Amino acid sequence: MSACTIPPTGWACTRAAGHDGPCAAVPQADGLTELLDTLDALLAKATPGTWEVDTERNEDGAYGSGPDHGTGYDDFVIGTEVRGKWQTLLCTDNATEKLINEDYDEDYHRAWDRVGEANTALVVAAVNALPRLIAALREKGYTA
Ligand SMILES: [Zn+2]
Repeated sequence: MSACTIPPTGWACTRAAGHDGPCAAVPQADGLTELLDTLDALLAKATPGTWEVDTERNEDGAYGSGPDHGTGYDDFVIGTEVRGKWQTLLCTDNATEKLINEDYDEDYHRAWDRVGEANTALVVAAVNALPRLIAALREKGYTA
């Protein structure tokens, strides 16, 4: 099996050459110092600011089957303020891995993608924490 060569310098794909779909890209870092440098460089290219999670209604989104089917649920978006205006950076509406959860009583019904909720929460927490984590690791001399 030969390796995929699509990712740019500093990244490697764990999938075989010629694979279908997106790369499974991971930072190619031999040591912690190189990993921190790679993460610093990625942060510098990414949209600055505090990233946040919001929901976006997918009115046409169908879920379930038979008597337990429904239409319409909340997808999740990641965004931040850019030049004084909220901008969407990423959205789970095209995600193919979803698990629609429902919560309801007589007066209330909510359906949402639990996978998108968990994954966007992780991305936002990680992005927002990275500057502090990188600085702390460097300050404490955790390099190798
Ligand atoms: Zn690849």
